[in-house]
Amino acid sequence: MELLANKVALITGASRGIGKAIAEAFVEHGACVLIGDITPEIFVVGDALYQTANGRARAVRLDVTSAEQAQAAVDAAVREFGCLDVLVNNAGIHRPHPFLEFPLAEMELVFRVNFYGSFLCGQAAARQMVKQGNGGCIINMSSASGKKPDEGGSAYNSSKSAIISLTRIEALELGKYQIRANAILPGATDTEMLRDVFTQVPGLKQLLEERTPLGKMAAPRDQANAAVFLASDLASHITGEQLVVSGGEFMET
Ligand code: NDP
Repeated sequence: MELLANKVALITGASRGIGKAIAEAFVEHGACVLIGDITPEIFVVGDALYQTANGRARAVRLDVTSAEQAQAAVDAAVREFGCLDVLVNNAGIHRPHPFLEFPLAEMELVFRVNFYGSFLCGQAAARQMVKQGNGGCIINMSSASGKKPDEGGSAYNSSKSAIISLTRIEALELGKYQIRANAILPGATDTEMLRDVFTQVPGLKQLLEERTPLGKMAAPRDQANAAVFLASDLASHITGEQLVVSGGEFMET
């Protein structure tokens, strides 16, 4: 069953990991996708998707910290596919340091990519959606780390908390245009970002799996399935919410 037929989506940070899985899931569900990433690898992923999706995929180089590039990506989606219905703000970076030694430059970098990137792409996409007059959907990739502290997470966790707040503001201010905004809060998900953390903290993977009721980390596709649902008309009355996808690790008490 195709949940996203006739929808056009822009997905950031899509050359690997969760973003790539979201792009693959979206085209499987009938969407046209424009994928963007700061790395040139995005064109390899774009070519493969173009083949499997019978032309319903394109790739652009996109640094989400640039307002000009965010606008250019939105314009490219409209040029290639005629409109923009869905934005997935997925690009993100993690730079762990102890609080007492946290370098300001690293703090600024993490906020520029994770928070400002979500803001800039969200603003460019929402302006286009308002112009189209047909509603729309913004999905912000926050993290379970946005709701609980981790050692070394001064920048990452704080930026992910800020994204939850931004999501609610978007929902509040854009609701009158029928634009929905929701956040996905992944728990530990098997991507290169997390594998980097596992090499720095021996035993962490096993610990995470032991304290997760479903007994395993999420696959990127688990997060992608949540994004498909939120982007689809099945979620047409859901906005301003946080969807935790963590195998039960972060269930609310
Ligand atoms: P990855 O590091 O595997 O992929 C993120 C992608 O974003 C990379 O291709 C990266 O490129 C790209 N990127 C980095 N900076 C920019 C930029 N300025 N502009 C555009 N693209 C950029 O991450 P994941 O797939 O693991 O995570 C995806 C999202 O999910 C992130 O927001 C992350 O914080 C969030 N998340 C992930 C969790 C996990 O356990 N994996 C848990 C909770 C949340 P490059 O390789 O050059 O850095």
